[in-house]
Amino acid sequence: MPAPVLCQSCGAGRAALRRPKTGRALCRACFVAAFEAEVHGTIVSARLFQPGETVAVGASGGKDSTVLAHLLRLLNERHGYGLRLLLLSIDEGIAGYRDDSLEAVRRNRGRLGLPLHVLSYQELYGWSMDRIARHVGPKNNCTFCGVFRRQALDRGAALLGADKIATGHNADDVAETVLMNFLRGDVGRLRRCAGILTGGEGTLPRCKPLKHAYEKEIVLYAYFQGLDYFSTECVYAPNAYRGHTRTLLKDLEAVRPSAVADLVHSGERLAVREDVRMPTQGICQRCGYLSSQPLCKACVLLEGLNRGLPRLGIGKPSRLQKALTGAEKPEAGFQEDSEQSSNAVRTIDF
Ligand code: SF4
Ligand code: ZN
Repeated sequence: MPAPVLCQSCGAGRAALRRPKTGRALCRACFVAAFEAEVHGTIVSARLFQPGETVAVGASGGKDSTVLAHLLRLLNERHGYGLRLLLLSIDEGIAGYRDDSLEAVRRNRGRLGLPLHVLSYQELYGWSMDRIARHVGPKNNCTFCGVFRRQALDRGAALLGADKIATGHNADDVAETVLMNFLRGDVGRLRRCAGILTGGEGTLPRCKPLKHAYEKEIVLYAYFQGLDYFSTECVYAPNAYRGHTRTLLKDLEAVRPSAVADLVHSGERLAVREDVRMPTQGICQRCGYLSSQPLCKACVLLEGLNRGLPRLGIGKPSRLQKALTGAEKPEAGFQEDSEQSSNAVRTIDF
């Protein structure tokens, strides 16, 4: 019988895995210690938090945010970060997916001993994702969901008095986003998507403490720590462009294992030519959220939904923007009397 492989860190324990990130054979205890030390290293070197801050941890019930909440609570105590942590969940209203994953968040709340706040699309926008999907059809659901979730997290965190939002984006997510924005030619997003700390100009700062953690290692860490998370894919995910980018990245990784880290690095180092025009940020005339257009994307999408023309808000918004803000006579199909129009979008008071 071949001799068991010994841990290359402590030399005593039996190796339980070969780390996807480094290729080193480690025992369970050394892997857990190394993983926690690396996330702590990321937090310290990027100065993600200041003592006394209230941090809202975006909690979806999936593996990434479950590991993030567990680690932040652990490292906050171990290293005395001095943070007040709370869990913030957004309920998009997706039956068979988010309702089940929120159950996992509720179970973890007890285990972590952190307060949990749940905010739904229904409360904020008057629409659940299931209802949106019935109106929009099988494509573009993630466009609505992504825009609404971004605002919902910001609004929820502001409501709770948080100074910062922490999200569970891992290295694979960041690499996918870099690749996706590159493929779409979305230079504005490409420039900022690899940042570890973003926002801050009119929105709450957001940070990604797991930015350098590989998805495979997050799964291993969750397994070794016996964490309880929900792992089913969203019912609307197969139609998302991101899914194709993910497949492409997995193929690249199969022939070049460092593809994820390389793409994250590319995103960080990318320079955009000086003469490339970037959107100027202003404030949405309707809801006050940060926007480079007179109306923010959420208000435009919502307007399309409320007018029974959901596809109007998808794609380049310039004509719809003009019509909605009165700079252009509304087209037939958008005509409404002013009273209806003012009631068409629910005001969000935060
Ligand atoms: Fe929302 Fe799309 Fe994610 Fe489903 S896959 S939760 S619809 S963004
Ligand atoms: Zn708005």
